[in-house]
Order: sequence, then C-alpha cells, then structure tokens
Amino acid sequence: MEEAGVMESPDYVQTSLAGAMALGLEPGSFYRNAYPGSLNLLMTYRDGCRANCSYCGLARQRRGEADNNTFIRVKWPAYKLAAIMETLSRPPQAAAAKVQKLGRICISMITHPQAAADCLTIVRQVQAAAQLPVSVLASPTVLTDPGTFFQELKAAGAERIGIAVDAATPELFAAMRGRQVSGPHQWDTYWAAVEQAVRVFGRGYVSVHLIVGLGETEQNLVQTIGKAGDYGAQAHLFSFCPEPGSLLSQQQPPAYGQYRRCQLAAFLLNRRQIRPDDVSFDMQGKITGFGHRLNELLGENLASGEPFMTSGCPNREGCVACNRPYGNERPGPVLRNYPFRPETQDINIIKGQIWDD
Ligand code: SF4
Repeated sequence: MEEAGVMESPDYVQTSLAGAMALGLEPGSFYRNAYPGSLNLLMTYRDGCRANCSYCGLARQRRGEADNNTFIRVKWPAYKLAAIMETLSRPPQAAAAKVQKLGRICISMITHPQAAADCLTIVRQVQAAAQLPVSVLASPTVLTDPGTFFQELKAAGAERIGIAVDAATPELFAAMRGRQVSGPHQWDTYWAAVEQAVRVFGRGYVSVHLIVGLGETEQNLVQTIGKAGDYGAQAHLFSFCPEPGSLLSQQQPPAYGQYRRCQLAAFLLNRRQIRPDDVSFDMQGKITGFGHRLNELLGENLASGEPFMTSGCPNREGCVACNRPYGNERPGPVLRNYPFRPETQDINIIKGQIWDD
C-alpha cells in the first residue's frame, strides 16, 4: 500500500503512527510491547481544521509554521480508506498478529464543513468492512442538528461517541479554543452535544475527553468530571504535552503528582465510588484527599495499577481498547498513561508520585 500525499476524506484518512505500525504500513516496534488496541483514524482535508485550539498540532495558526502531517507530536500518515479496510478484512490466519490485537476503530472528525457528512460515509464503509466496534470523536461545532447526526451515526453502525471538551472550565475553554484564540468553539455547544449523544447512544456510551495541565486546578477538573458523570458520560484524561509550533509550545506538562491525583479522581468518579463533594482540596485547589483511605477505595485496583492505565473506549470483551500508546508522551521509564498493565516497579514509582508535587 502506498502512502498518499495530502488527500481528502472520505476517501482518505490519516492514521496514528501506532495504528500504521499495527497495520504493517510503517516500520517500527512498540516500546514494552504496547500494541494499540484501537485503530484511530483522523479525517483529513486539504484546507485543514478551521479551529485554532492553542495546544493542537492541527490548529489554523500552526499550519505553515510546521509540518501539518503531525498531530500530538507524531506523524499521522494519510492512506486510502479502502486500502486500510482491505487490510482489516483479511481472514484471521492471513492478518498480521498486530492487526489481530485491534479491538475497536475510532474515527475523529476535525472542524470542517464537510466533516459530518463524510464521517457518516466513513462509518458506513468501516462498518461494512471490519468486524470491530466503531467510535466517533465528534466535532460539535460543525453539527447543525447534533441529535439527528447522532441518530444517523448510530444507524450507520457507530457504537460510542467521544466529545473532546479538553478544557475543564468555560473560561479556560474560551481562552484555549474559543474567542481568545479566534476559534469557533463554544463551551455550551460542546455540553449540548454531550447531552444529545447520551440521549441517542445511552448512559455509559459517551465519553468526555479532558486535558490535564491546560491551567485548570485539580478542583476544576474534579468538578468537570462530576459534570460529565451527571450527563451520563465517562471522563477520559489526557496529559498536556507541548506541541511544537502551537500557541502552548512553551508550556510544561503537568507534574506527575497532579496527573496521578487526577487519574485517581477520574477512576473513582467514573465508577461512582465517590462524588465530587467527597474530594478535599487545599487553598490552591490541589487534591488533599478522596474522602476515604485510598487503600479502602481502590483495594486490588491500586495494586494492579488500573487507575493509571489509559482510559478509553473498550473492546468487545470490556477491556480498554483505546490505549493510545505514547499519545501523551515519549516512550520512557515513567509514563503518565500506561498503555499496558503497570508492573511492580512501575507501581512503586506511581505510589511515590501520588502525593508528590
Ligand atoms: S478542533 Fe480539534 S483538530 Fe481542530 S484545532 Fe481544535 S483540537 Fe485540533
């Protein structure tokens, strides 16, 4: 299969480098055998995303300043959708072992006027060719009627919806994605889409993405995870990592301690083991406790490291498929989102970070 130049959806999509490696389209090996469990496909247009989110490699402002074929700091090569589907539809005995580990396909819209119609076309084609559950990361800003769009997506075969709210407060959202960066996005539009998505797909079938480290306090984040839960959605966390050429290229990632506490809060709130009111904070909005001893709340899950693994849409067996290997950070000895079950030495490091910085 040949890699294409800048081609357009719906015939072409970009795939994460990890996804391309899993399909055997790019060379390379996975650090600590962290094979991706989800094939993430990104819609692509010659004139790019119309938004200008301050942290994003696809932002309007970044184009021309940097290679627009990268996103979250790694290459996202473009391929013909039909060729990817041909690879996925090979019988198990003919498929590469890494392809067989895929348990889901996720299609990410970008902010483009053609994205909604083309997303439906892609979902139908993927559904017809691959025997895998399908998620869509929807872009609410381009949806004139989100409820109808979600019904059409469901009829086309999508099983879950993600909405990337990303910023934890309305003020931060405006500063990072809205008016203050000449971007088109609005906080209320995003949450209205979450509400419509839950109405169509059901409670537990919608996720809200939030980025830790955009300038929010831990208290802000806990409240927004709680808000997602009130809507019937799960929160999935991403750790901010500076994208070269973006407006936030000079900002540092969150401290490990901050990220660990947010992971614990998300894990416990998503499972409804605690409520936002159970969490205590200091004067700076930093988490100081979860209302109960962590050992009592987490039991085996602390020892297994599950709260520190990447959270995302599941495969058919109910295990996280969207493990996004190294989507937040470079491979290295200490990870923020573990794309595999952490080992004993990882857990010992993590435990030492929870109440640190
Ligand atoms: S809408 Fe999405 S793809 Fe476009 S700039 Fe914002 S975060 Fe990036």
